[in-house]
Amino acid sequence: MDKSMKITELGISLFTVGKIRAVENESFGVYYLSEPEFEIRPIAEKLFPIFQYEKEYFNDPDAQFKVFLRRDPFVISNGGSACRYAFISGYSAFGGFDPDKWFNVLIHEMTHTWPYMDDNNVGEGTWFLEGATEYYCTWLPYIGGFLDDEFTVKCLNEKIGRRYYQNPFRETPNMEIPKIQWKERLAQECPYGRGFLYLANTEAQLRRAGKGSIDDIVKQFGWDRPMHPADWKAFLQERLGREAVVQFEEMTAGKFLEPDRIFLKTDFKL
Ligand SMILES: [Zn+2]
Repeated sequence: MDKSMKITELGISLFTVGKIRAVENESFGVYYLSEPEFEIRPIAEKLFPIFQYEKEYFNDPDAQFKVFLRRDPFVISNGGSACRYAFISGYSAFGGFDPDKWFNVLIHEMTHTWPYMDDNNVGEGTWFLEGATEYYCTWLPYIGGFLDDEFTVKCLNEKIGRRYYQNPFRETPNMEIPKIQWKERLAQECPYGRGFLYLANTEAQLRRAGKGSIDDIVKQFGWDRPMHPADWKAFLQERLGREAVVQFEEMTAGKFLEPDRIFLKTDFKL
């Protein structure tokens, strides 16, 4: 994989002086400028093995990663923003946050390094960029044994329950969402939940049919070689046939998604 930096990436880089604090190992570093009232080290050390597991999973063994944590002046904090092999996240100067929720933001931003779909025409690839990131950042730490049932159950209910089923914009078409998402915060969250649920449903269909996994296409593409919706459709057509392509088009048009019956069976093991 080409790891050279693009000019646009320099444009979103931070230049600073002064004492920089760090918690790092050979491939992963967490950097911050002032000591918060909570400890960064245990959070960073929880991320190290998940990063190791994910980079091996996505066949990217030489990946190096940097996280910049910033104390911000906002009451509503703990958001994140990712670029390739790095992300920034903030914690509020006012204190008070849900550590599990924040940890999930951190693994979400880290996971953005791998699943990728072109989204220059904003809305076309958002369902995948955010949905696949949500899907993998929930399942990989769980199947790798890094996060327990309780954490994962909380994530599932937040990501599928609150962000999709309880979302008033759950039937808004993908291409309509960018027009309103900066006014309607909940609309902006819809592609995360919709994409996650749609991909989990597709994974269930593939496994039931013995036709592999969404991993087979996800791992072929990346930031250097973005997937396009046409690639996704070709994959569906090849593995599951025309009906799956129609289901995909219905999803993009905002058709309500039901959870695959696989979710409702307690004896099914992925
Ligand atoms: Zn994201």
